[in-house]
Amino acid sequence: MLLGPCRVCWGRTLEPFLDLGPRRAALCRGCGLVQLYPAPPEADALRPADASADPEGLAAAVARRLDLGPEDLVLAAASGDGAALVPFRRRGVRVLGVEASPAAAERARRRGVDTVEDRFDAGLARALTRVHGPARVVLAGRTLERAADPHDVVRAVRAALTHDGLGVFETADPAALLRGARAGALAAAPCRYPAALLRTLLRRHGLKVIAFEEARRGSLRTVAAGEGSAWAVEASAEAVPLAEAGLELERVRTWRDAARRAAGVVRLRAA
Ligand SMILES: [Zn+2]
Repeated sequence: MLLGPCRVCWGRTLEPFLDLGPRRAALCRGCGLVQLYPAPPEADALRPADASADPEGLAAAVARRLDLGPEDLVLAAASGDGAALVPFRRRGVRVLGVEASPAAAERARRRGVDTVEDRFDAGLARALTRVHGPARVVLAGRTLERAADPHDVVRAVRAALTHDGLGVFETADPAALLRGARAGALAAAPCRYPAALLRTLLRRHGLKVIAFEEARRGSLRTVAAGEGSAWAVEASAEAVPLAEAGLELERVRTWRDAARRAAGVVRLRAA
């Protein structure tokens, strides 16, 4: 029996491959998204500490492409304690965090990162743009994995960007997961996006992927720009989905095998 709906393609096409107690990990046959079913409540999923695993690497990835000045704004979604914005603030760039957790927002303010206490969605993005102007960079962090509606996250990023701005997303890299499959890792992220699906999802809302980069801790960093912008698409935007195609991420057997290997490791440790 197939489950659903999938949070990206809305199909009742989810095929479970791993039992995790109250939830199951399932592959969507329609779009290839691996997800927990039923989805965890969004409040649980939006843990502030997950804003970015690698703030310095993220800042460097932006600095390689954009020369930011004091007039520019860097906006961070689900910004937690503001860690991802600190390197930008140090360089004298205007920064603004958006964080739903009052405690995390307060920690961010204490370290000098101006933070709006709210949930990042398209409505808020438009409202912030009216007050602060559009952002040259939107750091979406891990919101694509954790938001109940990933489409709205992409719309929000698009709505907040200047015409030449960059949106940066982080997601768990399914290829890295398959290399070192652990049951815990399979359950750690509510969603696993193949790179090809990220490209399709972003394109649907007017963003083109210009690069995929390996970030720390098995994360994939996606750098995107407006469809009509002058940004050139880098080689990795084609190469990473192509390399992934060889992993057969769209087959439930691939994930079942990974879950079995993970279970084997757990048994060996217990023995
Ligand atoms: Zn789907």
